[in-house]
Amino acid sequence: MDVKKIQSDVVVVGGGFSGMNIARILSQNGLSCNLISGGYGASEFWNGTVDLLNYPGDNIELELAKFQVSIKDHPYAKLSLKDIQNSLIEFNRDFTKLSIFQEDDKLVNRHVITPLGTTKLCVGNWNSIFSTYKDFTLDTKCLLIEFAEFPNSTAPLVSLGLKETFPGQFNVLTINLATVFSLMNSEFTEYLEEGKLSALNLAEFFDEKVLHLAPVAEIIKKEFELQFPDLKFEELTHFLFPAVMGLEHTQTILNNLSTFLNTECWEFLVFTPTVLANRLINKMERKLEIAGAINDHSKILVDLTSEESVHKWNCHIRNSDGEITILNSKYVIFATGSIFLHGFFRDQLKMANQFLSLGLDFPESLNPHFEIISSHANSNIFVVGSAIFHFSTNLGEDDEIQDGTGLGMAIATSFKVAQEIIAREKTN
Ligand SMILES: Cc1cc2nc3c(=O)[nH]c(=O)nc-3n(C[C@H](O)[C@H](O)[C@H](O)COP(=O)(O)OP(=O)(O)OC[C@H]3O[C@@H](n4cnc5c(N)ncnc54)[C@H](O)[C@@H]3O)c2cc1C
Repeated sequence: MDVKKIQSDVVVVGGGFSGMNIARILSQNGLSCNLISGGYGASEFWNGTVDLLNYPGDNIELELAKFQVSIKDHPYAKLSLKDIQNSLIEFNRDFTKLSIFQEDDKLVNRHVITPLGTTKLCVGNWNSIFSTYKDFTLDTKCLLIEFAEFPNSTAPLVSLGLKETFPGQFNVLTINLATVFSLMNSEFTEYLEEGKLSALNLAEFFDEKVLHLAPVAEIIKKEFELQFPDLKFEELTHFLFPAVMGLEHTQTILNNLSTFLNTECWEFLVFTPTVLANRLINKMERKLEIAGAINDHSKILVDLTSEESVHKWNCHIRNSDGEITILNSKYVIFATGSIFLHGFFRDQLKMANQFLSLGLDFPESLNPHFEIISSHANSNIFVVGSAIFHFSTNLGEDDEIQDGTGLGMAIATSFKVAQEIIAREKTN
């Protein structure tokens, strides 16, 4: 049987943040991109912050330089501050809901609340996550909202963490979702009765009610009087909601609640990060669609071969029915992450042998452009995001976790590789 062959300029393998980001930039720059992915990725568990370098100091350039001398295989050893800065600025321009922290045009690490109520350093966050507690004083009176039937709220933990770290009062108010749904005549009452309420459909509920949130505010006021008879509602300074306040209309939902409650409303992180991840993934997918990239999340790469006469690669991909298609391209990007590896990347020995037969180096195999070194000319196969850790035996899991690589690195490496490919296409 003939195997179907599809041509494009670029094949991106892996549909997490790094794969989607490079496909977005390249297709926005006129290259045809075919992005394929299968199974979960770390990006789907993302907690809403842009983690870059996990360090408390303020000289980010010095921190980066340490990698150049100490761990040459580390992705940071191949990134300059300019690469990182430009990548985040470009990302921020296209995804304005994600704030990047800067002072005098320089990236800075700031604290945001974690699901454990502690604070964590990061270089940016989803703009609804609360990060302005340097304003907390003895007069701060913060009310954290917990939805009784939503089991993943961390309100009590966050409130404890805040009490230990900041001046002011922090209380948790429990709201019954059954009351909210029945008062608003919502079919979500059935979800609740059938035990089908998830963080995602709770977010959908708020999206649906974005312009009708007055009853939610009324319930909060009423419950506050019942649960805190000794406190005054008008003295409250901040409301913190779990990060399930909509997928599409979060900022409007929080603004509308702020108006009804006459107090600032923000979100704190929860143990179910799917809502935050979905907010960004949805936006990424829309950009890919607009830019004309093919984005297929039901296929995995099972083999790689070459067409030497035309300097092109054949990515053999398999769908859930076991059917194989060949994606033929000049450039291939491996954006396959480090923890959820499938198909071709599962058996390292087999993969290394295949690389050898194709004249490709593995492991310790990436040049300064994150390109796999080839015995011929440029291989035009690049590795981005946390997959880079898979391509070096000198880097362990600890190197990935302790340096806080995260979304910041996914953005920086995919941007750098995209720039390299765009430059190569211009000179051809
Ligand atoms: C619980 C959790 C919370 C996190 N929270 C944060 C946070 O708040 N801030 C932050 O900055 N970072 C956070 N991180 C880290 C961050 O999510 C990752 O560093 C980043 O998402 C990595 O993106 P990636 O695209 O490189 O890899 P991934 O998101 O892992 O994507 C790789 C994709 O490739 C696919 N794939 C693998 N093999 C194949 C194959 N053979 N064929 C086709 N597809 C394949 C996988 O299924 C997956 O979809 C968190 C990570 C976890 C696990």
